[in-house]
Amino acid sequence: MNALKDRIALVLGRLTGQILHLRRKDGATALPGLVSGLISKNLLSSLSKNMTDGVVTISGTNGKTTTTNFLNFILNNAGFMFVTNTAGSNLERGLISAYANSVNFLGGYPKNKQRLGLFEVDEAELARTFDQLRPRVATFLNLFRDQLDRYGEVDSLVSRWQEMVKGRSEPGCIVINVDDPNVCKLQKYMSGDVITFGIEDENLKITELYNVKDARFCEMGNQLQYDVLYMSHLGKWRCNCCTTARPDPMVSAQNIILKNDSCIFDLVVKEFRYKISIDMPGLYVIYDAIAAAATAYALGVKTDLIAESLNQVKAPHGRQEIFVADQKEIRILLTKNPTGFNETIKIIIPDSKSVGINLLAILNDGIQDGEDVSWIYDADLEMLKKYNVDLVCSGTRASDFALRWHLAGLDPRLVCSDIEVSLYKALDNISPGGRLEVIATYTAMLQVRSILTSSSGEVENEIL
Ligand SMILES: [Zn+2]
Repeated sequence: MNALKDRIALVLGRLTGQILHLRRKDGATALPGLVSGLISKNLLSSLSKNMTDGVVTISGTNGKTTTTNFLNFILNNAGFMFVTNTAGSNLERGLISAYANSVNFLGGYPKNKQRLGLFEVDEAELARTFDQLRPRVATFLNLFRDQLDRYGEVDSLVSRWQEMVKGRSEPGCIVINVDDPNVCKLQKYMSGDVITFGIEDENLKITELYNVKDARFCEMGNQLQYDVLYMSHLGKWRCNCCTTARPDPMVSAQNIILKNDSCIFDLVVKEFRYKISIDMPGLYVIYDAIAAAATAYALGVKTDLIAESLNQVKAPHGRQEIFVADQKEIRILLTKNPTGFNETIKIIIPDSKSVGINLLAILNDGIQDGEDVSWIYDADLEMLKKYNVDLVCSGTRASDFALRWHLAGLDPRLVCSDIEVSLYKALDNISPGGRLEVIATYTAMLQVRSILTSSSGEVENEIL
């Protein structure tokens, strides 16, 4: 009876998705799940049980979508049949939608196919849905301060994750970033398998301590020492008072070269070493790549295939996506919390001070952006003040953003809440061949994409 109810729920969810798709309406990544979930209450649990290859979850403050996207490439090449929520709809209704959008018209899956659920899951939602998903592999990326109005402090998430790992009903495997002391702690609560990843490159350490540090103490309450700090509170940490210290990771990135438009590194998995080159800049891209590699490794994918796939990856929507309009490049950089913002700023800083930066900075305060925008004060916008920046501020909180930039020593040329107007005004100042950097919160990123993709065919989407 329940199986029939689930099928009906899925068929109706799938139908909702198709209607939205035909009418070109947004919401196909969430509404089908909402419809299906209303009809059958334990749907997520029974659907996840049906996955013969199990469920993989990717969670953490930054990098969920990019890591899941990288895994997409790897698992496709490895021949897995999987259901995934690549559109970034990472709450329960998004997960059910992914299932509903993948069934046939009778609500079933094609027979004799291996099946796996690959889901990025919001870090607070993971604690709520963990028992239903029962992941075979749960990957934990990092925890930074993010949208405090929704999540509460990092500490509360850390303890919820610990309870969740401790209380799970099946052994499974966790994949953890050992460079983040909060995430590393999870292994203490795990009786099943643990795969670890991290960066091993002392040349990369940052010398200035930025003001974002979310994990400074060991469990005895003593301040952690860092021998190397890579980004925010991620690095090689240890405590002088107890035996707590970062272990050597099983999967690591070494010999890292960060370029303006790409990154190159050695992927090291046990005794194997591979050269990887990815056409996306930024240290966090490397974290996402080794997280994906470690997760695939946990699923039994051969290391040769993992390396080959990482060399083929492309950026997902709004994550360093590049559009071309009137011979000008527009690069969209999704930014939603202080640590991500700092890394984004490092990406747009040119090699030479004589090169100018054209920047459109958009701050929206919708639910998906975070209604509390005070996090912009925790990011190090001051890094840009030595550069020649043509700045336009936009979004529902354009003037709050303008004030923050002003305090960082940069005054906008234009402050305008209308995103379309701001985009064209920002482009006005750029000669052909030049580039506009767009820093945008989630809903702002979607708006910019939609303006660029719907404008009269002159725009050529050139996802890197
Ligand atoms: Zn200690």
